Amino acid sequence: MSLAGKRAVITGSTSGIGLGIARALAGAGAEVVVNSFSDTPEDHAIAESIAAEFGVPARYVGADMSDPAAARRLIEEAGRVDILVNNAGIQHVAAIPEFPVAKWDAIMAINLSSAFHTSAAALPGMYAAGWGRVVNIASAHGLTASPYKAAYVAAKHGIVGLSKVTALEAAGKGVTCNAVCPGYVLTPIVESQIPDQMKTHGMSREEVISRVMLSRQPSGEFATTDQIGGVVAFLCSAAADQITGTTISVDGGWTAM
Ligand code: NAD
Repeated sequence: MSLAGKRAVITGSTSGIGLGIARALAGAGAEVVVNSFSDTPEDHAIAESIAAEFGVPARYVGADMSDPAAARRLIEEAGRVDILVNNAGIQHVAAIPEFPVAKWDAIMAINLSSAFHTSAAALPGMYAAGWGRVVNIASAHGLTASPYKAAYVAAKHGIVGLSKVTALEAAGKGVTCNAVCPGYVLTPIVESQIPDQMKTHGMSREEVISRVMLSRQPSGEFATTDQIGGVVAFLCSAAADQITGTTISVDGGWTAM
């Protein structure tokens, strides 16, 4: 599979799953636009190292996905966008009565609304070109629920719905849209949940990983950022031309239970 000549924008791609996706698409020959909100020299260095490793054009564009105007500006600054991967996401864990309103709003803005804004800005160009891919990174929590993750579960179910609508509107235009639903992947967003879970359950780090997190994953293993990147690259290939409006789980069997 070659994605040479295609330009991909991946939101939230300086770490974790987004970085794995950027590397996989660059490995398949695509030009990549790496994004986060921080805009530090280290962020730019990530794009430079992708360019050096894979021999493709790569650049960093800072834009805060909690800001609708910035999300749309990211697409404008990228120029032509053939592949849009909406990956930026945050998490907060609390019971509904105590859930901070600001956290609810931020999760909705970053995990769901940003995908609407980037898609709105990128789809016209894809329609004009007669080819495009939108891949939304949802979650096993886009298909199932867990307590204390109200905003995250609501936003991830929302992005699965947005993916279906995008697919229907884009059908027949050479543009597909799908949602990838990872189970647990050991990235900073998951690392940050471990200390709280250790306190809540009175468990060691190893016990939280095996008895709380991976208890949801029958394989007993984390999915990896490379695996998620590989699935996204597949969705961008010609083999996936007729895969649209669906979800692809990468969750070690979580949603089969
Ligand atoms: P991560 O914390 O490693 O990466 C999140 C990325 O989003 C970072 O690059 C960060 O800079 C960026 N980001 C955060 N807020 C942003 C903002 N306001 N504007 C722009 N960028 C912003 O987390 P991850 O695990 O790689 O998560 C990536 C996506 O995968 C998220 O949507 C997450 O919900 C989803 N996901 C993760 C897991 C998992 O187990 N790690 C499972 C299912 C789904």
